[in-house]
Amino acid sequence: MILPHNIYVHVPFCASKCNYCAFFSRACMSPDWDAYSNEIINEIEHWAQLLGKIHVPTIFFGGGTPSLMPIDIFEKIISKIRNAFDVAPECEITLESNPGTIDDKKLNDFINAGVNRLSIGIQSFDNEKLKFLGRRHDVKTALSFLDTALQYKLRVSADFIYGLPNDTVDDVIKMCNNINALGLTHCSMYELTLEPNTPFGKMNLKMPSNETMADMYNAIDDILNIPRYEVSNYAAPGNECKHNVSIWDGAPYIGIGHGAAGRIFINNEWFDQMGGGARFEKISNNARAIERVITGLRMVRGIRLDKDIKKIINMEYVHAHPELLHQTSDGRIAVTRAGMLVLDKVLLNMVK
Ligand code: SF4
Repeated sequence: MILPHNIYVHVPFCASKCNYCAFFSRACMSPDWDAYSNEIINEIEHWAQLLGKIHVPTIFFGGGTPSLMPIDIFEKIISKIRNAFDVAPECEITLESNPGTIDDKKLNDFINAGVNRLSIGIQSFDNEKLKFLGRRHDVKTALSFLDTALQYKLRVSADFIYGLPNDTVDDVIKMCNNINALGLTHCSMYELTLEPNTPFGKMNLKMPSNETMADMYNAIDDILNIPRYEVSNYAAPGNECKHNVSIWDGAPYIGIGHGAAGRIFINNEWFDQMGGGARFEKISNNARAIERVITGLRMVRGIRLDKDIKKIINMEYVHAHPELLHQTSDGRIAVTRAGMLVLDKVLLNMVK
């Protein structure tokens, strides 16, 4: 039996590179979209041959900056996915976007072509900080695009970054109050991390201390008017990103395009897969269960204790640390708010 698979399509182009970005993307104002879409189509055909006309619950166009894609290229890819697989009418189709790369008309075209969830990289309410991060847009452009998006019938999320050098807890509280005023039903709050091989990674930036970062993290949970449901994600109930929740829960997904990762499930076996044909390797049920613990515990609701998970987790550690972990009324294991702050340590100790 072949289970439903979610689909992630990677769009590896951006108008320019942000100073903190370690994602697989390159700055390119006029990519060869035909060559890109032909590769994507070939990959879709490959998976349809291997897996058959499987059910696809969610599709996520991530990047990079997918909103740079010309609408005819998006239509070509989405109609290929619809023809190759069983895509339900209620399928969640997310497009990541950046302000300044998409106008009202283009957004309308994407919606008509099937996009029903939009994620917007707003990042900050401060023009100086946007400049420092290397973002191309200013606050006015971002908020006016968000306003436009909120007028359409689609689910909207926005991304923000906190914990910049010199940021204080008060700055983060102010940011959260601004977010509350926007009336969002979903947002992602990312702590700035210095990745090697990025401009920030090579600068000697003085970041807020770990204690300040922890205070900021807790302040976000206290101030935002939508609850945290994952380490960095907040949503009004029912507005969680179905694609990500499904993947964190351990469902199979296909990664399409260079830089995309997937986990394929065929005949009771798991395969680790990379887009562009870069990798397709069997992984053991044990290794997959460990991955499911790592991603599942990121969610506030935690992980279901099925037989594979029971084999690999150290229940003694769970019982010995009620301040970090707890068993939910529906039989899941979840981290507490204090546990979220030291999730890496919890995971190291929890997996046998
Ligand atoms: S827009 Fe996003 S993917 Fe592109 S460079 Fe900036 S952070 Fe990276």
